[in-house]
Parts: sequence; C-alpha cells; structure tokens
Amino acid sequence: MSGGNVSTVACVQCEVTAGARTPPGGIVLETERFLVHGLLAPSPIAGWLVVAARRHVRWWWELSPEELSELGPLAARVMKAQRAALGAEHAYALALGDVLHHMHLHVIPRYASTPKRLWGRGAWDATPEEMLKDEDHANAARTLRDALASASSFL
Ligand SMILES: [Zn+2]
Repeated sequence: MSGGNVSTVACVQCEVTAGARTPPGGIVLETERFLVHGLLAPSPIAGWLVVAARRHVRWWWELSPEELSELGPLAARVMKAQRAALGAEHAYALALGDVLHHMHLHVIPRYASTPKRLWGRGAWDATPEEMLKDEDHANAARTLRDALASASSFL
C-alpha cells in the first residue's frame, strides 16, 4: 500500500472507459470528453443512462471549462433521445457521487408507466422484483444509440 500511486486505485468508471467493463447494450454515445452508457448495476428503468467524463475526475468541480461547456448540451441531447426514441414523458438529471468517485450524471427517463414511488430519487429504491433484465436494458441502449448515431441528432 505504499507509494500511493493513483493509477492503481480501481475505478469502475475508468474500467468502462478502458473497455474492461461493458454495460448492457454497450456504449450508447461517445464524444471526445464523455461516454454515455447504461448502468452497470441492476435498475428498474429502461434507458437509464449515465453521462461520465472520460478522464478520471473526482467530481464536477474538477471538470475543465471545455468539459463543462459540453455537459449541458450533451445531457439535453440524451433527454431528447429518451423522449423521441423511447417515449419518455420526462427525464431526470441526478448527480449524487456518494458511491462512485468519478464524475458522472444520471439521466433517467420517466415513462407514463413508471410507478410514482420510482420517480426521481425513488429510482434507486426499486425492489429486486422490479429490476429489468439485462436484455431489456440492452434493447433500450441499442435504440438510443441508433437514435443518437447521427452527429446532428437531437442537437
Ligand atoms: Zn475513474
């Protein structure tokens, strides 16, 4: 444990960036500075995506001006795709950072069928029975990737 080399600290998000871990459905969208993909953990909401910095930065306060400029339009673009391609009524943008210490933003669609107790922060409170299959997440990820494939989609 001596030396304290930061690069030896395991970071799940950096493993995704490096291609060592693949979320269901793979990477939905990549830009020079960010990756967009589904959750690595079980979730009850199809199309729940994470926008994460490619660089290992602890949290939003470490983002560069260029990263900060890209983040808002990118999140809005993802939300538009969730609405247009998956029929979401609404999309949440939630950033907590208690568990994963690598800057990310959850962009979570809300559907007409989403039970009220899973709205907003409640999406983390789903029971094991409410979790969707990996296959369902992969299908939603592929649908969003196709919708976002054109560089001009949802700008
Ligand atoms: Zn990292």
